[in-house]
Amino acid sequence: MITVENLSKSFWGTTGPVVALDDVSLDVAAGAITGVVGPQGSGKSTLARLVSLQERPDSGVIRVEGHNIASLDPRRLRAARRRIGVVQYGDLLPQRTAAGNIALPLEQAGVDGPQRRTKVGKLLDLIGLTDKAALYPDALTPGQQARVAVARALVGDPGLLLADEPTKGLDADAAAGVLTVLDRARAELGATVLVVTSDAGVIRRVADEVALLVDGRVQESGHLLSLIQAPDSLLAGAVLPAIDAPPAARAQHDRLAEVVLIGFAAVGALLPEATGRFGAAISVLGGGLTRVGETPVARFLLGVTGAHSDSALAWIADRGGLVRQGLRGPQGIAA
Ligand code: ADP
Ligand code: MG
Repeated sequence: MITVENLSKSFWGTTGPVVALDDVSLDVAAGAITGVVGPQGSGKSTLARLVSLQERPDSGVIRVEGHNIASLDPRRLRAARRRIGVVQYGDLLPQRTAAGNIALPLEQAGVDGPQRRTKVGKLLDLIGLTDKAALYPDALTPGQQARVAVARALVGDPGLLLADEPTKGLDADAAAGVLTVLDRARAELGATVLVVTSDAGVIRRVADEVALLVDGRVQESGHLLSLIQAPDSLLAGAVLPAIDAPPAARAQHDRLAEVVLIGFAAVGALLPEATGRFGAAISVLGGGLTRVGETPVARFLLGVTGAHSDSALAWIADRGGLVRQGLRGPQGIAA
């Protein structure tokens, strides 16, 4: 859908040039959710503005559906911009209802009443606010307002939906509601979605493809479920449950191992079965369970004791567990 090749962008700050993006390349895969995550100031919003064609890069190429946008004439550039729906938060018109806010871009485009109502009805259903259609923004919760903002961005059937910090300032339930809407836009409307966020939880819940941006550079990128299987992935580290195990607990076991388990069967059954088969005492010293998209994923720090500790761990690895053996004792694995 969109590819970004060797993009660089600097700004003039008060003390000289600020490099916001430094040779960034990224594929935004059609029909998937791509998540760019990174700390504050890492260049995410700059990347979002370049991809949505609101700003020009200093160097590098942006291709939309194969066309280098630098070579588009103004008319084609405007047409390309219209194919990108940017979620704009916080500027719903207070004197218009939820439905009226979603309909506004259609009115401006001269779409007739019946067509408008059909489209708005579909989007209200998509965002789960059919029963709130006639409410004004100040009668909606912040999460509902954010969902209306997403619907408004979708109203022109954009090929790309772009959301910068879609869950910022929302509580957990409201954030989950907004992410559900982004996922439905992908699944039901076939939209390509690009989300930039400083919250790894957003990536964990909705992203198929991910990139980690640090200081304007892509440090890591790929398919999230694949990265989770890469032992040294920084993105996996940010997305998997943290391991907080006190050193004293670590010292009491013959073997320490970090184990990543992916999928229902693995998460539910492997550890008890390994205990039963090998008579090894397996203690969970840290870590926990989470979901990556719909897939249950666990990361545990295990302490294993008994004559068959190694066999038990090898058996878990054979069954698809990703086992990293630590050394004996507390220095084994840095959490
Ligand atoms: P993020 O969205 O990841 O927090 P930004 O893309 O907003 O990061 O900013 C990246 C860097 O570029 C920061 O150092 C920021 O101060 C700088 N920057 C971004 N936009 C501008 C601008 N219009 N003028 C000057 N500096 C900017
Ligand atoms: Mg930002």
